[in-house]
Amino acid sequence: MLEVTSSIAEVRRKVAMARIKGLTIGLVPTMGALHQGHAALIDAARARCGYVVVSIFVNPLQFGPQEDLKRYPRRPAEDEALCREHGVDLIFAPSDEEMYPDRQLTIVEVLELTRGLCGASRPGHFRGVTTVVSKLFNIVQPDVAFFGQKDAQQAAVIRRMVADLNFPLEIAVVPTVREADGLALSSRNVYLSPEERKAAVVLYRALTKAKEMVEKGERSAAAVRRRLLETIAAEPLAELDYAEVVDYDTLEPVDFIDGKILLALAVKIGRTRLIDNFVVEVRDELRK
Ligand code: AMP
Repeated sequence: MLEVTSSIAEVRRKVAMARIKGLTIGLVPTMGALHQGHAALIDAARARCGYVVVSIFVNPLQFGPQEDLKRYPRRPAEDEALCREHGVDLIFAPSDEEMYPDRQLTIVEVLELTRGLCGASRPGHFRGVTTVVSKLFNIVQPDVAFFGQKDAQQAAVIRRMVADLNFPLEIAVVPTVREADGLALSSRNVYLSPEERKAAVVLYRALTKAKEMVEKGERSAAAVRRRLLETIAAEPLAELDYAEVVDYDTLEPVDFIDGKILLALAVKIGRTRLIDNFVVEVRDELRK
């Protein structure tokens, strides 16, 4: 049965009770306005864990001063219905005061991995993410925490944080859920006008073309990146933030495509910044 709380003490009590019953604890951190992408994370958690906690918190610390903190969609009743439908045990939806009763003087920051991609255009964003996710890990103390591949850099940064700081939990990454035309589901898609919504499929189109090139044997990252840039440039409503071909773990740009890499895009469609990525794995015979 679904329970909802805004209290850290209450979360600790409920999780302790689940532990006594011998249940594995799963955590799905979200900012709410839940959609089928979040549902896939919840389903993955439900499949692996006996007790599933979904946190819903629009974290002010990870928004820049010019970003959409104020207008970010908030839909508590719909979120609760989706969680109930997907068998969540506990929603933790704290207030800003519950999470940050005082100025937060302690910050968790992952170096290097946060410099490029979204880190370059959103200074301070990942510090906000890693700080709040650390707090959530300490509050819920899950065995497994679930994140979406849609936010590839976030997943890589959190994997690294967990390894570097010895958090006693496992990170599970869930594949990106898409609309029928390929657009990655995002709470921010509601900002798009009908015309922008049509244009937004350009991210998926560009990634698909680039991936096809790799599948046909192209190994030059510069050539693949050029295809991404050309495809985005051909869409009048799209304004490029970045298009990169990077290593899956280090997020460093690669020259030659080999092993596990990410094709990563951030594009503004009107005022809305969208991100998407494909994971591509190439296992060429050992080069002579
Ligand atoms: P958010 O509420 O946008 O902060 O996202 C919460 C979690 O859901 C993050 O781990 C995201 O990567 C994940 N997520 C968001 N959209 C999708 C999607 N379309 N497919 C899979 N996971 C997603």
